Amino acid sequence: MPLATPYYLIDETALARNLEKVERLRAASGAKCLLALKCFATWSTFPQIAPYMDGTTSSSLYELKLGREKFAGETHAYSVAWSDGEIDEAIAHSDKVIFNSVAQLERFAGKAAHLPVGLRVNPGVSHSHFDLADPARPFSRLGESDRGRVEAAMDRVSGFMLHCNCENDSVSAFSALLDTIEERIGDLLMRLDWVSLGGGIHFTKNGYDIDGLAARLKSFATKFGVQVYLEPGDTVVTDTTTLEVSVLDIVENGKSVAIVDSAVEAHMLDLLVYRESGAVAPNAGPHRYQIAGKSCLAGDVFGEFDFPQPLAIGDRISLLNAAGYTMVKKNWFNGVAMPAIAIRRKNGTTDLVRSFDYADYVASLS
Ligand SMILES: *Cc1c(COP(=O)(O)O)cnc(C)c1O
Repeated sequence: MPLATPYYLIDETALARNLEKVERLRAASGAKCLLALKCFATWSTFPQIAPYMDGTTSSSLYELKLGREKFAGETHAYSVAWSDGEIDEAIAHSDKVIFNSVAQLERFAGKAAHLPVGLRVNPGVSHSHFDLADPARPFSRLGESDRGRVEAAMDRVSGFMLHCNCENDSVSAFSALLDTIEERIGDLLMRLDWVSLGGGIHFTKNGYDIDGLAARLKSFATKFGVQVYLEPGDTVVTDTTTLEVSVLDIVENGKSVAIVDSAVEAHMLDLLVYRESGAVAPNAGPHRYQIAGKSCLAGDVFGEFDFPQPLAIGDRISLLNAAGYTMVKKNWFNGVAMPAIAIRRKNGTTDLVRSFDYADYVASLS
């Protein structure tokens, strides 16, 4: 019997294809790769992912603990700001602590004297298509930007974290960015043991020059005598997962609108945040529909797609690329039933690994 929709369907074979690329990059570059849990934290896949990566990085205490508990390897602790109430636990669960400002470093680094300590530095350059996600936007709080303050803290840190990329699928753009960083802070990089270059490099994309990226990372590591880390999120899971939905109703109102048993804001929030369209395959044929969610938000629209046959009530639709920044952001808006999580194994069987019900909805509020 097919699983009831809605559910996220993670494909092990597709994930394996991306992980082979992670492995190739690690081997060719010497860089260590940590999964960024803020993008994807569906831990039932960690047994498959962990052998291909060096550990996890986090943006909060909870992600940090999840990485420690469910994923082998190194656990990096980073947060935009640690609170007094969480810093001791954070340090207890981490292999490296990275502070976002010199003020946080001064406040808490004494507690982490037994660990390598890092500082997030903001070199003031970035590759990002969206102001919302641009770490170098004006007045950015993401990383220490004041060179004087960074210099004064150099003897207290062994590494920097520099996260300046978002959806960068060009080796030459990445390389040029790194050139600028080297010019601006190369003298400081010389004094470090390790540098994390963050996430946002889309190296699993078809046709991406992995060897070119590896060579650039290797020359950076050699020039400054540092261990390089990358913190990929999206690129590890891109094109591995679909959101499986069913058509509930079809409304004709100038356009044919198919309403499905999901909601963009609740289950694929980034489409709204970044004003993007979802995707289906093959997206071809003479029958065009707007695919819309069942929440009462007027703009709850996944996109407009072409289908080979007219849609009928009960038809299933697979919305593509539903792994990164989806399950970590899903919510109970409108009380819409939360998609289950299923994994299609390499042998073709599909396992339901988590489902949610009314009790979970009730438990999320009080
Ligand atoms: C968001 C983020 C990542 C992961 O970025 P992706 O675009 O998903 O690869 C890694 N490191 C830091 C510091 C981040 O903020």
